[in-house]
Amino acid sequence: MSQTKSDANSAGQAEPETHGFQAEVKQLLQLMIHSMYSNKEVFARELISNASDALDTLRFEGVKNDTLYENDPNPQIWIDFDKEAGTVTIGDNGIGMTRDEVMERIGTIAKSGTQAFLNSLSGDEKKDAQLIGQFGVGFYSSFIVSDHVTVETRRGGESTGVRWISDGGGEYTIEEVAKPRRGTEVTLHLREGETEFLESQRLRYLVTTYSDHVAFPIMMEQEQSEQASDDDSESEDSEPQTEQEPVWEQVNRGAPLWTQAKSELADEDYKEFYKHTCHDFEDPLTWTHNKVEGSQEYTSLLYIPKRAPFDLFDPQSKQHGVKLYVQRVFIMDDAEKLMPRYLRFVKGVIDSNDLPLNVSREILQSNRALDKIRSGSTKKVLGLLESMAKDEDEADNYATFWNEFGQVVKEGIVEDSENRDKIAGLCRFRTTKEESDPGVSLDTYIERMAEGQDKIYYITADTMAEAKHSPHLEIFNKKDIEVLLLTDRVDEWVVAHLTEYEGKELSSVAKGALDLGEAETEEEKKEHEKLEEESKDLCERIKNSLGERVNEVRVTHRLTDSPACLVADESGMSAHLERILKEAGQAMPNQTPHLEINPTHPLVEKLAAEQAEDSMESFSQLLFEQAVLAEGGELDDPATFVSRMNQMLLAVSKGAA
Ligand code: ADP
Ligand code: MG
Repeated sequence: MSQTKSDANSAGQAEPETHGFQAEVKQLLQLMIHSMYSNKEVFARELISNASDALDTLRFEGVKNDTLYENDPNPQIWIDFDKEAGTVTIGDNGIGMTRDEVMERIGTIAKSGTQAFLNSLSGDEKKDAQLIGQFGVGFYSSFIVSDHVTVETRRGGESTGVRWISDGGGEYTIEEVAKPRRGTEVTLHLREGETEFLESQRLRYLVTTYSDHVAFPIMMEQEQSEQASDDDSESEDSEPQTEQEPVWEQVNRGAPLWTQAKSELADEDYKEFYKHTCHDFEDPLTWTHNKVEGSQEYTSLLYIPKRAPFDLFDPQSKQHGVKLYVQRVFIMDDAEKLMPRYLRFVKGVIDSNDLPLNVSREILQSNRALDKIRSGSTKKVLGLLESMAKDEDEADNYATFWNEFGQVVKEGIVEDSENRDKIAGLCRFRTTKEESDPGVSLDTYIERMAEGQDKIYYITADTMAEAKHSPHLEIFNKKDIEVLLLTDRVDEWVVAHLTEYEGKELSSVAKGALDLGEAETEEEKKEHEKLEEESKDLCERIKNSLGERVNEVRVTHRLTDSPACLVADESGMSAHLERILKEAGQAMPNQTPHLEINPTHPLVEKLAAEQAEDSMESFSQLLFEQAVLAEGGELDDPATFVSRMNQMLLAVSKGAA
């Protein structure tokens, strides 16, 4: 008996096994089924796209192992339907899947994207459906139109196939089957009311609308009437109208889009190709298509998406932006080899004529040809962005771009010294005169600099409110000098690397001795010197009270309304950067700030008149502590600050009484 049983197993007759979906998958399926109905056509593009990916993988693996082809070398995708059974089948002779792969890829496994997808749903059906592709959950869109789905697949080189069936209700079954042809067939058992997809015309429409530029032939049976008339018109040897062999024909255009001349392509073609290859349901913002000749020959077609992916800032995420092809054979989609990290949102295709076809990932690690392609493509993307930024008709698009990707682009100032100035020119900053997004360019800033101003001033802070209200801005506001308000995390690194732009030094308003250059009049300078002279004694007394807590105590140029502020050393790091690094767990030697006081402020005048030593001391401490707070810092000993403050308030109210 046991003999029989194991025979049955190897012949694929064993009982199907039942497995449960992981909880999130179940939730996702429910969502697909109930709420994405208005975009039900997406299943066609998703399944064709998976078939095309599987054919790409076969070609890639087949370069080193041509037995995978199993004497069935012509890549194909086919679509078939059965009116009576109510099914549509999408098949491919791509790489296929093993049993484990099926379970891992369309079964129980938690996909990083699944939960993120669920979290980012807005409730707006149309928008939500557009998200599916981005999150790598496209296969599940089958359930929008199907009450159950069968997948039969066999990996190239394997002897047995696998059948997977699910009704999307939380479980699936899996069993071995005989599957003579390599690859995958997905059969949709359509729900009642979805018979529209049992029409050849309808399916052809889906192919030409959504998948026209898939690089492999998508085959469908010729329609009956055509077949009949073809046979009529043809020769004597046609059989009488009984059993006809179906005639298959290619229904998509098929040639990889990037190999075609620009002049032959319409915007719509580019958009369709983008949505298909880059798994986006929205149109791209813009693109650039180039044939490069010379020492390196390659074609690139690079797109800027409209929206940032959910994991743009996730260091773990594998960004699959740009796909590398060699002579139209897909090699890999390892974006970092093809695009620098700060352009990781760029999508598209690069097809090289020079790299060897059997190029391995190891070779690609350090390949001069690839480096050249990468730097050439980087320049193309920067050029594309530059022209978008300059074109007034594209202002809205550029704003969209900047709001979605600006923070990432700024990383380029740190990473890519070769293109630093170009990248800086692309940046937009909010300023004291332009608080709304996306802000202004450095060129615009320079154009409208104040009379006598020779530097680009900035302030860094955690939030806009903190930046805007910083006491350091007082003199700049008074003199009508614009200041960049830098509140992105990356900004501290940006200003550390971008020390000048177009010959203008970038200068922190919170560091060093303030030099407004010609923007300060002779009179003002004299006035300042006089104040300095008069306050020497006061500064010394405050310094004595504060001791090690401060470096130098000096008279400020910066303040008009506040009594005091802290200033970092010219060469030191700003208090803001120090805080960021501390939060990130870096051990920091404490930097001692300078305290600048405003001798014309009534509080400071009062302090100057103070004779008692201990009042002097507590007054000085308060002055220092409120300056720390005003620039978003934290006090070492907040309780003592509060008690000092309370004593002071009491003294004031007694005085008033
Ligand atoms: P994505 O394509 O973004 O990875 P999908 O949900 O569309 O997400 O597909 C999940 C996975 O299932 C694919 O990554 C692939 O590994 C596998 N798969 C789906 N369809 C096929 C197919 N026709 N041939 C081989 N593998 C497939
Ligand atoms: Mg897919």
